[in-house]
Amino acid sequence: MNKQHYDLIAIGGGSGGLAVAEQAAAQGKKVAIIEASRIGGTCVNNGCVPKKVMWYAANLAHAVDDAKDFGIAATRGNTDWNKLVKAREDYISNINDYWNGYVNDTGIEHIHGYARFVDAHTVDVNGQHYSAEHIVIATGGQPIIPPVKGADLGITSDGFFQMQQLPKRVAVIGGGYIGVELSGVLQALGSSVTLLAMEQRLLHRFDPMIANVLESEMQKQGIRVQTAFQVDALSRSAEGIVVHGTDDRVEQAFDTVIWAVGRRPNTDGLALENAGVTVMANGVIPVDTYENTDIDGIYAIGDITGKAALTPVAIAAGRKLAERLFAGKADSKVNYDNIPSVVFAHPPIATIGLSEDEARQQYADSVTVYRSEFTPMRHALSEHGSVTAMKLICAGDKERVVGIHIIGDIADEMLQGFAVAVTMGATKANFDSTMAIHPSSAEELVTLRVAATDVEPAISDVDAGNEWKRTA
Ligand SMILES: Cc1cc2nc3c(=O)[nH]c(=O)nc-3n(C[C@H](O)[C@H](O)[C@H](O)COP(=O)(O)OP(=O)(O)OC[C@H]3O[C@@H](n4cnc5c(N)ncnc54)[C@H](O)[C@@H]3O)c2cc1C
Repeated sequence: MNKQHYDLIAIGGGSGGLAVAEQAAAQGKKVAIIEASRIGGTCVNNGCVPKKVMWYAANLAHAVDDAKDFGIAATRGNTDWNKLVKAREDYISNINDYWNGYVNDTGIEHIHGYARFVDAHTVDVNGQHYSAEHIVIATGGQPIIPPVKGADLGITSDGFFQMQQLPKRVAVIGGGYIGVELSGVLQALGSSVTLLAMEQRLLHRFDPMIANVLESEMQKQGIRVQTAFQVDALSRSAEGIVVHGTDDRVEQAFDTVIWAVGRRPNTDGLALENAGVTVMANGVIPVDTYENTDIDGIYAIGDITGKAALTPVAIAAGRKLAERLFAGKADSKVNYDNIPSVVFAHPPIATIGLSEDEARQQYADSVTVYRSEFTPMRHALSEHGSVTAMKLICAGDKERVVGIHIIGDIADEMLQGFAVAVTMGATKANFDSTMAIHPSSAEELVTLRVAATDVEPAISDVDAGNEWKRTA
């Protein structure tokens, strides 16, 4: 069989695959991308991008609700779901077109279909073989539907982005970031939402301050938050879908149930055994700090590696890898410390570094914590109100800032600059010597004066249980 040979093949045309291909092509290498679906991957088609469009729509809905308190006449009608979804999908099509054009213009070969390893340097796509010196697995993940009775009655985040109409009554199962984000959007746009989380708190991996404020804000918005709810089965009654808990708790009745209980890496079907690549039972491909798998010439980047599942992380891993392979930068690799992240909840959440609990475990008594909670000016006049809470965690004699946690209006845009400071090793004194911008919410972070004397209660409620539950 004739084979096409490349310097590099990227399997998956999402955030990581595009980044590594782009950088390799920029070094003059012969490159191919194999993509089974739409170019752009999860972020563009079923993740960050459509999610953020919906988040903006929800923000506007909240703004219209608050407008009258500022003397602006505005009343909200029903959400025009079709218009919103069409505009969103048009926007995404433009991004797909951009990437298709870019790939074409840069001479990267775009191969459509599912890749399957034949051996360590060869893959099969639709019966055609392609070989390369370097093969990068960047196949991302997909939402988990847990193995409980009636699970098929629920949809996932992928199904959320295909919804033809706004459901009236929705149950979102999962208290992780996707569950929280989808709940906030749906409630703001007109659904009545119940959020069912297995853990004792929402976002249980975050600093507990975040969960406390978030839960109360969600309840103010009308979202019914049920924690410590472990789903046992779904069934259908005459009124709608019923969610059964393991302890005989029952929630009903819903038009739509959304599973948001975690994602599983896309390794099934890659025939990794033909190349000898190790894969873990949960589908993750283990890699070293340079993204090498255990087979020479085969690498894995992005969500498939089980590291921080975020678009900028997948992109950075792809770029660094191509620089290492082709640009003579032998030590090029991602620094996985201090990765900032945002949850596009209502209000948004931004976090970097250690939680208070983690800092106390790592630095014991040398931890100093500064906290603030206030009503931001955006909400000062509004009847609905909304709280902003912030926490700065410092360690050592010099009070190096090792964690920042914010929930509140525009937290999503606030953290990026502070993340630079944390990455550079800034201390509390550096923060204090920075002139405030007034009036703003962000100024609070450079004007925190008094260290907290009490300790935020730690979370110790992560249940042992099924694998799908632990990845939620
Ligand atoms: C609802 C949601 C919201 C999110 N929001 C954010 C956010 O706000 N910010 C953020 O940073 N991250 C967000 N993420 C995470 C982000 O989307 C991922 O971390 C990122 O897309 C990972 O990139 P990747 O390259 O690893 O995989 P992906 O982008 O998933 O790309 C993998 C590609 O591989 C293809 N593929 C799979 N198997 C094969 C095969 N055998 N052959 C050929 N092609 C194959 C798939 O079709 C897919 O296009 C979100 C995710 C979801 C689900």
